[in-house]
Amino acid sequence: MGEILDLSHVRLSDRPLIVCDVDDVVLHFAAPFQDFLRGGGHELIPRSFRLTGNIVSIETQVALEHQDVRQLIEAFFEAQESHQVPFEQVVDTLCSLSGEADIVFLTAMPPRFREQRRRLLDRLGLEFPLVASEEAKGPILRKLHGTRPLPCVFIDDMVHNLQSVQDHVPECLILHMMPDSALHMLAPKAADDVARALDWPHAAELIRTHFRQNARPA
Ligand SMILES: [Mg+2]
Repeated sequence: MGEILDLSHVRLSDRPLIVCDVDDVVLHFAAPFQDFLRGGGHELIPRSFRLTGNIVSIETQVALEHQDVRQLIEAFFEAQESHQVPFEQVVDTLCSLSGEADIVFLTAMPPRFREQRRRLLDRLGLEFPLVASEEAKGPILRKLHGTRPLPCVFIDDMVHNLQSVQDHVPECLILHMMPDSALHMLAPKAADDVARALDWPHAAELIRTHFRQNARPA
């Protein structure tokens, strides 16, 4: 795809690192995307955990081709500032955690919609660095964190992203957090040893416990 990954704007301090997905972890995606679809005469019928094949014309019930699904997702990202809202307590929790850790958003979104997402996050007071890339998340996290002897946490709703980070940064705590959307109910399940954060206060609890247990001796 020739996407060049630029991480030069991410400056990490000598503190633990929290890398956090955005869609369906920080900002609602599944719910507002379905509203967006209905506005255009389409609907999502959650028959399996994928968009292609499950987005149909309301009028004909015919499923859209992959290309058209892709176009709708991109139109949604383009207009995200008028549709996406934060999850409960995410803003307070991340701002509080930023007192003890560096926070980086890692979003699997075409990089050309980065500015829209940046403005939206800034408007909410979430002014943490943002990396938008469709490359696998594990190698990106490895590049960001390097081999620093500091605690590291990764949060995502998608099991394949958690797996990618587990494969490339095995010392990182991975947290699975997802909305209880009908679509997510059909998603592949995380392994039994993967911690599930039920909401943001619970995530903060798990993160702080990990920091305490992995703190370097003073
Ligand atoms: Mg996500």
